[in-house]
Amino acid sequence: MEYKSYNLTNYKTNKILKNLPQEAKESIEVVGNVLPFKANNYIINELIDWDNYIDDPLFHLCFPQKEMLRENHYNMVKEALHNGSSAEEVFNVCNAIRSELNPHPSGQQCLNVPFFNGNRLNGVQHKYRETVLFFPGSGQTCHAYCSFCFRWPQFVGKKSLRFAGKESHDLIKYLKVHKEVTDILFTGGDPMTMSANVFSKYLNPVLDSLAETNIQTIRIGTKALSFWPYRFVTDKDSEDMLRIFESIVKKGINLAIMAHFNHPRELDTNIVKEAILKIRSTGAQIRTQSPVFKHINNDPLLWAEMWRKQVNLNCIPYYMFMARDTGAKEYFEISISEAHRIFKEAYSSVSGICRTVRGPSMSCTPGKVMVSGISEIHNEKVFVLRFIQARNSDWVAKPFFAKYDENASWINELKPAFSDKFFFEDEMAEIYHSKLTDCEENKFE
Ligand code: SF4
Repeated sequence: MEYKSYNLTNYKTNKILKNLPQEAKESIEVVGNVLPFKANNYIINELIDWDNYIDDPLFHLCFPQKEMLRENHYNMVKEALHNGSSAEEVFNVCNAIRSELNPHPSGQQCLNVPFFNGNRLNGVQHKYRETVLFFPGSGQTCHAYCSFCFRWPQFVGKKSLRFAGKESHDLIKYLKVHKEVTDILFTGGDPMTMSANVFSKYLNPVLDSLAETNIQTIRIGTKALSFWPYRFVTDKDSEDMLRIFESIVKKGINLAIMAHFNHPRELDTNIVKEAILKIRSTGAQIRTQSPVFKHINNDPLLWAEMWRKQVNLNCIPYYMFMARDTGAKEYFEISISEAHRIFKEAYSSVSGICRTVRGPSMSCTPGKVMVSGISEIHNEKVFVLRFIQARNSDWVAKPFFAKYDENASWINELKPAFSDKFFFEDEMAEIYHSKLTDCEENKFE
């Protein structure tokens, strides 16, 4: 299939989008000026149910909705667009709003970017001991943009908000020294938007230096299986990409495609099934992950169906996340207690083979905090929490407790139970102050 991409400037060239009611088009234009918007012909023709688009989860996944912005923000942009403001004035209004949407949650800018030989390693994040994230500069776009994306600043054209590495040589020097790093995650954006040729320019230095680093797993974070499965089947260099995967596996490296699926319908088309088979035939694993969201997948039956379908396609369910505290969070968020209910009901209704999944998990400043359960201890109702990843690996797998709060939707809204602070708070404060000089990020965002 020939790829056709739609954004704010050309979406009306698509017949379906052109014929949307004026109200829907206004939402696309107003919200799409603040949060990134991009869709493609596969999503429009194969994934969205246009007979029921108003409630369709895949429409909400890819198309800006009016309520994704606060009312005052929406009106500010609408006015700027309609009162003859210049493009620069509109851009400034939108940028002011963006800065109120917590563009870099969880200390990404301030705490995660490592220094090497006195220089910031742009395009690299090292938060957890064993895993380094690499943001290849040419892969900082996606086949379409998810309306909830916590990486939205990568796509809004503001350089200071963007992570991007021009090449991987500095990263290799870093990995040679940091032998505690076993995993590298190519992320973005979506690295699978790069041609095989460009991707290999970033990858080859990693493969060529395996003997001098301790890399054992290469992960690729991608939503291409959902948004453009042709990437692995009929694109002109799909075979080249598959051969790259094969070459990684042949080197004895665990290759994990970290696939992002939000709804079981994304797994239904013949082309996605074929793409999964092709990837699996290279020896790569496919692990799956998604946040749990209002308007998209806040239903245990959907999750159970999604995990079952993934396992049937030989994928490994990996994470259920909570909506990150950024961008259009208020539109999508559900409470921690509701997320736990959805997880528990879905998890308990599938067989053990699907229970490789972990969650619901909050990727917050100290680490990935999983809600293990809701319990009552000494007559107090509590959330039982534990880190499944943490800035200090000693914190991992240690249970801790927060007072039950039916409305809390993120860790910064939780209060410790049986103590005046969480066990990691003092150390987190030390890490925070040792790394920060001029960052304004909130430590538990
Ligand atoms: S594919 Fe991933 S990085 Fe791209 S917009 Fe969606 S969530 Fe964000």
